[in-house]
Amino acid sequence: MQEMTHRLTTDLRRLSFENHDSCVTCDHVFQKGDTSHLGYGQNDEPLYVCNECSGNLKETAIRHYFSPRPYEIPDQETKLWRYMDFTKYVSLLSSKAIYFTRTDCFEDLFEGAKGIKKNKDRWDSHYLDFFKSAIRNPPEGYACKLSEEEIEKDAQHLLKDMEMGGESRKKRTFVSCWHESEHESEAMWRLYSSVLANAVAIRTSYKGLYESLDRDPSISIGRVEYIDLNKNYAGPNDAFWRKRKSFEHEREVRALLTDMKCKDEGKLIQCNLDILIEDVFVSPHAPEWFIHLVNDINEKYSMKIKVNKSELKEEPFF
Ligand SMILES: [Zn+2]
Repeated sequence: MQEMTHRLTTDLRRLSFENHDSCVTCDHVFQKGDTSHLGYGQNDEPLYVCNECSGNLKETAIRHYFSPRPYEIPDQETKLWRYMDFTKYVSLLSSKAIYFTRTDCFEDLFEGAKGIKKNKDRWDSHYLDFFKSAIRNPPEGYACKLSEEEIEKDAQHLLKDMEMGGESRKKRTFVSCWHESEHESEAMWRLYSSVLANAVAIRTSYKGLYESLDRDPSISIGRVEYIDLNKNYAGPNDAFWRKRKSFEHEREVRALLTDMKCKDEGKLIQCNLDILIEDVFVSPHAPEWFIHLVNDINEKYSMKIKVNKSELKEEPFF
């Protein structure tokens, strides 16, 4: 078996990120636990392949046990909205960057949570059993020589580590939230603006968001899944992709990244605004002068886009 070189170019990371679920050579769909191989072919071209096709690799950068993404990716053209106050809009244009909030700074205390505290005993005992069984049954060639007491102690230790990992992950995870919808939403205007008359919304698509962030393979973009935490838990790798059912109206698609070093409450990530912003809308409660103001600001920042009046302002007939 080839030694792993751990040489991961952006092209290789992008290839494995965009084709995560299947081998790029034979289209084999990976199952949980399959080995996926990242590396380079005869002409140094990046390859992301299955066991069967791993003979094509001249260099193996890394081998993984495949695990499915903890989130679903919307279709490329799926419409995404971001409702905001005017000041946030100006900040977006002037910084040419999307602000990612550190997850422990969100109002929702369940951000990144695996479950409800009152149900933690069941979670703990499930993982204690899991760890104990893993310690008792090491991989072939190894033997477990620990006493029951030592196994119990080691399992407790692993559980504690997992718990601390969950807490600290909140400080290393940064998120930008988007609303998935074909249509403008009256409720979202109210939810995401402090002055309703001076609110702005931008509309993009999944593809627009991903490409505006330069197809960065370290930024995951996917749908949040809403679960009933009275009956379920979020898995150790799912926690930032699960929210309580009470938030279902948000229909959130989030862009998520991890940064081990950043100590700030948020991070600005450079993005190409011409790709990102497909449309700009002003709130249905905005006066005429506000529309001119937003157009002026767009011009100042060389944005060619014209502001749309809210679709909710259309006049009815009876
Ligand atoms: Zn293959």
